[in-house]
Amino acid sequence: MRKEDLIITIDGPAGSGKSTIANQLAQRLDGRRLDTGAMYRAFAFEAVSRDIEEHPRELIHLAASFTLSIDADGRLFVGEKDVTDAIRTPDISSWASKISVIPEVRSALVPIQRRLALPGPTVTEGRDQGTVVFPDAPVKFFLTASPEARARRRHEELTAKGTVIAFERVLADQIERDARDENRAVAPLKRAADAILVDTTEMTIAQVVDFLMEKITAVID
Ligand code: C5P
Repeated sequence: MRKEDLIITIDGPAGSGKSTIANQLAQRLDGRRLDTGAMYRAFAFEAVSRDIEEHPRELIHLAASFTLSIDADGRLFVGEKDVTDAIRTPDISSWASKISVIPEVRSALVPIQRRLALPGPTVTEGRDQGTVVFPDAPVKFFLTASPEARARRRHEELTAKGTVIAFERVLADQIERDARDENRAVAPLKRAADAILVDTTEMTIAQVVDFLMEKITAVID
């Protein structure tokens, strides 16, 4: 298969290791990574900035004109505003999860994801990449880990950034977000029938990357 056509999807719940793994895979493949969660976060951030996060009609209106761009350094912009760092807060995690149930918001972001993914090789990560956005991707993965392991990773990430938050709160927020992501009507979090399931609870990042690279190499060679 041509490298330019290669799209690898990684889906899974929060804290399953998708972002770290997607970054490393993209580097190894000399390609890029698409963080679709960041796009839902950027939308939520813009909604909160406009104080419309609880108003479905206004959110649908915003979806119709929403524009996103990513610069050469991978920084994410809503219009002229660099939102890369501001979207990484527990509050925005929660709003992104609530707002991403709205079908019009999803329909606004999916074409952007498809446009940004080509040319490959691209490693795209999210909740619905293998099921809805790129159903024909040649290699798909679904990462999971125990809820405690995932919450521990998230807690460590937040603490490293200087965010003070109790582990129990991270775990409770995560359980709530997982349930919403799995049970929504449109594009719920779920493994595509042809996605390879990888439980990362007991694996190091290097082990996961090596395992996924083996699977990818088998397809592209
Ligand atoms: O991956 P991340 O935790 O940054 O995603 C934030 C939220 O965005 C998720 O909880 C989910 O509700 C939503 N999301 C989505 N579809 C995607 C990626 C993220 O609904 N493809």
